[in-house]
Amino acid sequence: MSFFRIAVAAVVCTSGFLLGSPAPIADNVYTADMDRSIKPGDDFYGYANGGWLAKVAIPAGQSSYGTSAMLVAKNAERVRELIQGAALAKAANGSNAQKVGDYYASFVDEGEIEGKGLAPLAGEMAAISAIADKAALAGYLGGTLNTEVDGLTANADHIFGVWVNQGFEDSQHCYFHLWQGGLGMPDRESYLDSGPKAAELRGQYQAHVAAILKLAGISDAESKAAKILALEIRIAQSHAPDSDAVDVFKQNNPWKRAEFDKNAPGVDWNAYFKAAGVAEQPEFIVWQPSAVTGAAALVGSEDLEVWKDYLRFHLAEHYASVLPKAVRAEDFAFYGKILSGAPQMEDRAKLGIAATNGALGQAVGQLYVQQYFPPEAKAKAQEMVADLIAAYRARISNLEWMSAETKKKALAKLAALRIGVGYPDRWIDYATLEVVRGDAIGNMRRAEAFNRARNIALLSRPADPDEWRIDAQIVGAVILFTPNTETFSAGILQPPYFDYQGDAASNYGSAGAGMAHEITHSFDELGHIYDAEGRLGDWWTAEDAAKYHAAGAKLAAQFDAYCPFSDACVNGKRALTENIADLAGLVVAHDAYVLSLKGQPDAVIDGLSGEQRFFLAFAQRWRRAQGEAALRRQIATDTHAPGPYRSGTVRNLDGWYEAYGIDPGAKLYLKAEERVRIW
Ligand SMILES: [Zn+2]
Repeated sequence: MSFFRIAVAAVVCTSGFLLGSPAPIADNVYTADMDRSIKPGDDFYGYANGGWLAKVAIPAGQSSYGTSAMLVAKNAERVRELIQGAALAKAANGSNAQKVGDYYASFVDEGEIEGKGLAPLAGEMAAISAIADKAALAGYLGGTLNTEVDGLTANADHIFGVWVNQGFEDSQHCYFHLWQGGLGMPDRESYLDSGPKAAELRGQYQAHVAAILKLAGISDAESKAAKILALEIRIAQSHAPDSDAVDVFKQNNPWKRAEFDKNAPGVDWNAYFKAAGVAEQPEFIVWQPSAVTGAAALVGSEDLEVWKDYLRFHLAEHYASVLPKAVRAEDFAFYGKILSGAPQMEDRAKLGIAATNGALGQAVGQLYVQQYFPPEAKAKAQEMVADLIAAYRARISNLEWMSAETKKKALAKLAALRIGVGYPDRWIDYATLEVVRGDAIGNMRRAEAFNRARNIALLSRPADPDEWRIDAQIVGAVILFTPNTETFSAGILQPPYFDYQGDAASNYGSAGAGMAHEITHSFDELGHIYDAEGRLGDWWTAEDAAKYHAAGAKLAAQFDAYCPFSDACVNGKRALTENIADLAGLVVAHDAYVLSLKGQPDAVIDGLSGEQRFFLAFAQRWRRAQGEAALRRQIATDTHAPGPYRSGTVRNLDGWYEAYGIDPGAKLYLKAEERVRIW
């Protein structure tokens, strides 16, 4: 996985393959990318990828190039065509295509946006001006409580973020999970770090705040900006440090409604929750209690006028993307140039695609799967998942390091694990969301309100583990330990990872191994603190953990020995969790592939047996062109080993030796007792 936000136990994976390869010889078998002059037993990665590596060039401006970047680029092109096509199509009013097309067309209509100026914000600015006391302030803050951003993204521009999801201890109901927020810069350290770089950044931020206020027609912008920064510094002081985010137990702080008044005085919580639409909610989960207590105290203590200026600034900033050019340019000058180092603003079309995806994700997703992921593809992927689960069941039953009691719990968790592939069974119904061509800001506000209402409605229904948290058109996967679900989007279940019409051996070796890797995380070092229903609770015993770690030590040592430079080797310990998941993923996918054959022999394609193609696809999955600096950085910081070594996981499987007839003289050869077997 390339991104892991352990705090919510969620994983978003992105990966991909070479596009523009020569036409595959048999669907998804990429033999033209091999170098058959290399002996597979000496350098399996080179054997599988040598042809590709010889011709690939890292695109300008990128430090590495591989499967992920390529599939993402190809998919972005597809999504762009779909959305721009919808904008031209004059689809029936009220249809998803109309909404997608009009949302995009309005966003890219810069003339229309320019002509309206700041008028679309006037009503909201007046509402801020009308805030007459702290109770009204609490109501305003509650009414704008942000749920339009799903829980996988920390909220920044409202004092709290919200994620609606089941409880850590109660899988039957959804809760309001309250997160710290309210900062215009990325994190607490940006405000509190005493070094010169952070101080400079704060100066730049203050100038940016002043510039936005001026553009919004607010007088005395400089002194107001200084006060807004001072307020945000105080908010930041109450934030929990990022390091707390790795410990989910620190975030499980259920607060009864009545406890807010006691734990976090300063806010009129009645007014706040009423305006937020959750007055009846008996309990909330507060991820960072210090932040809620701190922000509440500041609502009580700070000058109302400073709060109102703070709200005016964040209002304009929040909608900057659909405001006139001067506001957009100022927004980019700080967030794009200074914070992200981007040389220039993305072109308007690209921003429009992203905005449309963000507002109408599942509407775009429906258009996407109509073209690129038919029901047959979903059925094929589901078959593979069923084989993977059957293989896992057998593996867990036979584990050496896991006690009999723990196995029962693991098997129960496996039986309860919900794996979604492609797209959700029930799509979001956008019927009540009105999208009007020419009203970019109104569309954005209505989409936010739609998502907020939808999230709040979840609170009054039983928790639904089949709720999708990733859009079908994204190249990625999400693991949610809470609830116990994993979803693999249609965007990632594409060739050469997965080709529903293609070679099964390659599908199992590539996408299958990737899915099994992710499934492993539900049972390993990461997932063992969540039970079958996604509730917090460690189901390993101390003895299980000790045996697991002992089994892992051998794999860590195997990776420690990989040294791409004389002065830099892989850190087997840091990469261990991922390497174990790779190994588990590969053995389980191999078992699943064998199951899928149902005792029948597989075909030979381009001289390769099914077994050979299975391992070949696995090695091709990891290919990546990478400059020295990027490779050194990966070794020094990443929890994932570089591709050639991940590909080398095959050394631990007896099946690989058999498939390729690897003899003891080969460089990659491991004696049977040296092969690591954990799952
Ligand atoms: Zn992983």
